[in-house]
Amino acid sequence: MNMEHEEKALKIYFIPYLAPGHMIPLCDIATLFASRHQNVTIITTPFNAQILSKSIPLNQNLSLHTVPFPSQEVGLPDGMESLSAATNPDNLVKIYQGTTLLQPPIEHFIEQNPPDCIVADFLFPWVDELANKLQIPRLSFNGFSIFAICAMESVKANSLYESSSYVIPDLPHSIAMNATPPKQMTELLGELLETVFKSKGIIINNFNELDGEEYIEHYEKTTGHKAWHLGPASLIRRTIQQKAERGEQSAVSLHECLSWLNSKPDKSVLYICFGSLCHFQDKQLYEISCGIENSGHEFVWVVPEKKGKENETDEDKEKWLPKGFEERNIGKKGLIVRGWAPQVMILSHSAVGGFMTHCGWNSTVEAVSAGVPMITWPVHGEQFYNEKLITQVRGIGVEVGAAEWSTMGFGEREEVVGRECIEKAVRRMMDGGDEAEEIRRCAQELGDKANLAAQEGGSSYKNLTALIDDLKRSRDRKASGS
Ligand code: UDP
Repeated sequence: MNMEHEEKALKIYFIPYLAPGHMIPLCDIATLFASRHQNVTIITTPFNAQILSKSIPLNQNLSLHTVPFPSQEVGLPDGMESLSAATNPDNLVKIYQGTTLLQPPIEHFIEQNPPDCIVADFLFPWVDELANKLQIPRLSFNGFSIFAICAMESVKANSLYESSSYVIPDLPHSIAMNATPPKQMTELLGELLETVFKSKGIIINNFNELDGEEYIEHYEKTTGHKAWHLGPASLIRRTIQQKAERGEQSAVSLHECLSWLNSKPDKSVLYICFGSLCHFQDKQLYEISCGIENSGHEFVWVVPEKKGKENETDEDKEKWLPKGFEERNIGKKGLIVRGWAPQVMILSHSAVGGFMTHCGWNSTVEAVSAGVPMITWPVHGEQFYNEKLITQVRGIGVEVGAAEWSTMGFGEREEVVGRECIEKAVRRMMDGGDEAEEIRRCAQELGDKANLAAQEGGSSYKNLTALIDDLKRSRDRKASGS
């Protein structure tokens, strides 16, 4: 770093929310700012800091500041500091309550050491008042695409809570939906978005070409708010090791995973993962195992550990895996990862030819970055909108046919997606044929664009330059009192 960078560096605080889908991309984006010589501090809790210090390259431009997580106050065991650590809906709510109690210690730290800019997750809406009080520019982050925000705003404005089959009005494309958005969720997200719109801008873990200029324009026109596309964030990780160490401790050794994938032909393996929060019931897992086995394709399947029930008996196992499944498949046709998988590393392996996904935004943009087509299976949040961007707008995936929009990843679900639908979608994507080839071609093309966007001179690279310049101008204006 030369003196010029040092003198002019911005001091920026990042406050990621305590869930992998929010924390991982925002911390990668923080790393991006640090790689462009800005002074970055990530504010988080001790357990999350431990994970981050192993998975992001800390250096003189990038440091962590911790505030204690109020485990005792909310009645949680030590170390349960992320929504992904929840073992049931009850402690999920307690973790959420704990995050709301982080306000006073974070406020205190920021008031004592004010930065030039705060980048905060939209699940910390109180940062708005603090930033106003200290007259510090605030940027928002929520881990959504602009496409999803536009869809959500339209659904809310038109109160589309009754029907399961409708076209979202007023968007650049005619987007046909097949599931009813939960009213409470849409209204809550809508309220949080109101605070986002009061910020200086929103940081998007995406690149212009995937959201599309038409949606960026639509967003800026309808909200009067600025969107900064700085992603795909995961592309900051270049080596296999960096990709594998993203997020939590992997449940499978890098060596085992790589040597199995290395033994498979290009594009032959289906990767199946439903993110960090979604827990399917045994009967749904059973249908997945039958569907993938019947398709005959090779697979890596990530199945969350049943937390609190580490010693699974044969009887427990037979509730979600058909008898003899492991003997017939594991190590030969497939791998099952019980717990955290090195997703970005797996997706970027040449053996992977498809991704069955819950359409969490990070998973989506990671698949796009790797040029991997998707089998879409949305579950909750804004995932149903992401599915439509993947299948109807960009043509880079096929739908499994999920139509039950849950309020969260946990809990009972009424509908089970049957093994026939699963097998059919897997075959449609992985058997080859004209349709699959065309989807694969589009996915590859968009993957190339993602990589170009993140490189020097690409759209996201230039957006970050423009954002840093803009923030520096604000800082200098403030310093000169103009
Ligand atoms: N992830 C991972 N391994 C896992 C599960 C998840 O690396 O076993 C990462 C994934 O790469 C992504 C994030 O966790 O970056 C999940 O975010 P997403 O938005 O896809 O879904 P969410 O977990 O928020 O539902």
